[in-house]
Amino acid sequence: MSVLVYTESENGKFKKNAFEVASYGFMLAQELKTVAIAIAFNVENPEELGNFGISKVLNIKDANLTNFNANAYAEAVSQAIAQENSKNIIISSSTDTKYMAGILAGKLNAGYCPNVVAAPLNTEPLTLKRTVFSNKGFATTSIDTDIGIIGVSSNAFGINENKTQTEVLEFNPNIEGSDLGVSSVSIDKVTGKATIADADIVVSGGRGLKGPENWSLIEDLAEVLGAATACSKPVSDLGWRPHSEHVGQTGKPVSSNLYIAIGISGAIQHLAGVNSSKVKLVINTDPDAPFFKAADYGVVGDAFEVVPELIEKLKEFKAQNA
Ligand SMILES: Cc1cc2nc3c(=O)[nH]c(=O)nc-3n(C[C@H](O)[C@H](O)[C@H](O)COP(=O)(O)OP(=O)(O)OC[C@H]3O[C@@H](n4cnc5c(N)ncnc54)[C@H](O)[C@@H]3O)c2cc1C
Repeated sequence: MSVLVYTESENGKFKKNAFEVASYGFMLAQELKTVAIAIAFNVENPEELGNFGISKVLNIKDANLTNFNANAYAEAVSQAIAQENSKNIIISSSTDTKYMAGILAGKLNAGYCPNVVAAPLNTEPLTLKRTVFSNKGFATTSIDTDIGIIGVSSNAFGINENKTQTEVLEFNPNIEGSDLGVSSVSIDKVTGKATIADADIVVSGGRGLKGPENWSLIEDLAEVLGAATACSKPVSDLGWRPHSEHVGQTGKPVSSNLYIAIGISGAIQHLAGVNSSKVKLVINTDPDAPFFKAADYGVVGDAFEVVPELIEKLKEFKAQNA
């Protein structure tokens, strides 16, 4: 028996969430008195997972599996599960992984519990706390099948170092052409910026910023904080910002440690996508803006005065603490 951790990577490097799922897998393996094994796809330094408690990494080296493919990845993971006799599979709650999880659950006849925010409440049966209703509530869910898939919410459990002796093995799953189904012809991705999914801090702007010509406020604040930039839906609908930055119920989910909302009213559809961020700071001229009810910190003020001052103070702080 073992715990199997599915890790995500990009351009041969682990994504940040790989270390979080590895940390979760190690914790569960200890509870179950077994070992945590990971599967990785074309990663350059698979042994890095040894820092987070993984004792064996099955690294796939297959050019056909460089880009995420839900069918083929689910097939590869299910073969690793059979080889390692894994009963608990730990995955992230990223969009790609959630897409694969349904296919994997179908293949294995496994129970799947997404959006898990804490260590299991019980292991017999596996009982988990997860968010529901777009992060507005919690549910306690048990997995009653022989194999269970646990989807860990981003930034919920955290990354914990546990240096472990790691064995790296090449893994060659038997993938048929029909497992691929579709293949990526090209991928066009914004580079050089923190992505919303991976960022610890997200700076987000709404219609209160009046127009795209004022977005340097958001970008300058994001730069000084090393943050990703985001926006409300109307902002991307108006073409002020690309749709890739739209967050909320119909956009990307945000689970950052700090979410800064500037000139955003806090409509329920916006909050649905950002509720799971740990700390929310709101800057808005209207003291009755609904966002203040969901905020941890609030500044009632004009973004055009508050944000430049905040940038100035942060720069001073960084210079003094460099
Ligand atoms: C089915 C459906 C799905 C939706 N999905 C999403 C979604 O995924 N994401 C999303 O964001 N929206 C979504 N919406 C839209 C949502 O209902 C709101 O209309 C939208 O979030 C409002 O965007 P906003 O806060 O930028 O604009 P507004 O509601 O216009 O708010 C602007 C805010 O800026 C403040 N402000 C004005 N001037 C300043 C200033 N100088 N300084 C500081 N603050 C200022 C105002 O007080 C106001 O609170 C959805 C709607 C529907 C019906």
